[in-house]
Amino acid sequence: MIPQFEPLYGDEEKQAMKEYLDSDGWLTEFRKTRELEDEIKALTGSQYCWMIANGTVSLATALYALGITNPEDEVIVPNFTMVASPNSVLLAGAKPVLVDVDEKTRCITPETIEPHLTAQTKAVMHVSLNGRCGDMDALVEFCDEKNLVLIEDAAQAFGSFHNGKHIGTFGKTGSFSFSMPKIITTGQGGALISDDETFMDKVRHIRDFGRERGGIDVYETIGFNFKYSDLQAVIGLAQIKKMPKRIQRRRDIFKRYQDNLKDVTEIEWLETDLENTTPWFVDVLVPDPAALQAFLKEKEIGARPFYPALHTQAPYNEWNLSDEDYPVSLDTAARGLWLPSSLKLTDEQIDEICEHIRSFYA
Ligand SMILES: *Cc1c(COP(=O)(O)O)cnc(C)c1O
Repeated sequence: MIPQFEPLYGDEEKQAMKEYLDSDGWLTEFRKTRELEDEIKALTGSQYCWMIANGTVSLATALYALGITNPEDEVIVPNFTMVASPNSVLLAGAKPVLVDVDEKTRCITPETIEPHLTAQTKAVMHVSLNGRCGDMDALVEFCDEKNLVLIEDAAQAFGSFHNGKHIGTFGKTGSFSFSMPKIITTGQGGALISDDETFMDKVRHIRDFGRERGGIDVYETIGFNFKYSDLQAVIGLAQIKKMPKRIQRRRDIFKRYQDNLKDVTEIEWLETDLENTTPWFVDVLVPDPAALQAFLKEKEIGARPFYPALHTQAPYNEWNLSDEDYPVSLDTAARGLWLPSSLKLTDEQIDEICEHIRSFYA
């Protein structure tokens, strides 16, 4: 069976973990976590970075630090995204406002956001799905004009850039995830980056019970335990050292699928600039994704339909959102399929998968 996704790690990770355990490290976050933060700062060009337990609470922590925690505070979130984006707003105590995505990038833009702005709108959470984004400079300008904080959910955009600038560095803060399927993984994990020292100082306190540092029980603010661990950082450090190779291979995998399937007219590809974008999954829009998924399953090839348009899901039904407001989210959800995308894939396997897809449409 070729799974839709599985993680890749090698001898470097195993060796690093053995060395760490042999060194009698304390397992919880300490020097290895700080080293990983330094590596993330170097890669993204951001001034500050704090590792956080995962990419869901990292977004909630950002909202906490911004004081966007009241039920009347509205945060604009795409209706087509991983469910953690809107749910992180609920976790922080604020109100997510789902808006439709743009046809070209399947991300939110000033045009899709504008109709949903109210006097209560405090922030925009932009999600760079699969490393793609629209015109980030225009979005920054729009948010500045409207006095809105821009938060970037860049969970799928580690190693992706826009005009040479790392995604996650355009807004007040960028959030990453290191869960199993992400560009690098430590099983679970998240991070916030920002150039704002005051904001990041709040983040530091919130993630650690509100105290100045471990072992000193004086509380500067309400805080929680959203910390990371050195056990995970050891794996992360080994993986981030291989980022150039991992980025290149992901781009090559995407390109090989595109080249192999270029004559299949049923398949629509979203515009993907492989100089800047590091696709996380190989994503295609097809007429009947369930049928292709079932066909591939018979050949022992895994595939996964896209996320649903979130407003169609049971927990959000009570918000009474109308299909009419979300045509592009609905279209994306109805036609999207993720093909096998693991770094473990060989060129031969990709060619074999593509041959099956071509035969399905022949
Ligand atoms: C994975 C993901 C998250 C959540 O990250 P976790 O580390 O799994 O909590 C949030 N947003 C997007 C867009 C994601 O892909």
